[in-house]
Amino acid sequence: MKIIVANWKMGPSSEKEAVANAKSSDKKGVIIAPPFVFLPAIKKVVKRAKLAVQNISPEAQGSYTGEISPAMLKNFGVKYAIVGHSERRALGETNEIVNKKLKTALKSHITPIVCVGESHRDHQMKYLHFMKRQIIETFKNLAPKDFSKIIIAYEPIWAIGKNAEREATPEESEEMAIFIKKVLNDHFGSGSVKNLRILYGGSVDEKNAKAFLTCGGVQGLLVGRASLDPKKFVEIVKITEIRR
Ligand code: PEP
Repeated sequence: MKIIVANWKMGPSSEKEAVANAKSSDKKGVIIAPPFVFLPAIKKVVKRAKLAVQNISPEAQGSYTGEISPAMLKNFGVKYAIVGHSERRALGETNEIVNKKLKTALKSHITPIVCVGESHRDHQMKYLHFMKRQIIETFKNLAPKDFSKIIIAYEPIWAIGKNAEREATPEESEEMAIFIKKVLNDHFGSGSVKNLRILYGGSVDEKNAKAFLTCGGVQGLLVGRASLDPKKFVEIVKITEIRR
């Protein structure tokens, strides 16, 4: 089944809108990642979609002011956590921190949706070296079987958000899905890619979703801005349902 993650980032600004958005997004295969404050209200209205958070503490427990423990999230009913989103990496989250966060999530039985992606592409293909290093460091010390419990989101930074350079093409998504699997296979063993799920994220909308789902070499999509527009998101979900 294809997966659609709705990353609401820092929106919407009211609980009323959040609940309305959640109701219209409530479909099987949809994972809603709202801001923390809206989780209780959303939990009450969704029946089919699963709940996610946009960030998770690297620490399981202890004196960490301002953090929310993974056990609290798990007990609340959160099933997934976006980890290492480029907007958090831009705030200083290193591969080492992302590695710690994803391992804490796994230990807490929360599925990490781990974001990887290069900031730009160059003709010498140095970005492939960058990607290789990011992948190896981000997933350091994982056992092959751990990869069936995580989801990787390929999110080229140059294609994310309203300041995106341009949209990526489904071919670029497919090439990178193959590249990610090759690096994992070479470094972590063939067991790591057996049941691996990879998503594409970066300016996905109702116009390009079909192409990424059919030709992008991925098992689903991570949708940012368009997930906050109920009309667009419902359309993306409809397109996905047809391609299950
Ligand atoms: C994202 O938030 O991960 C994302 C891909 O954003 P957008 O769809 O707005 O580019």
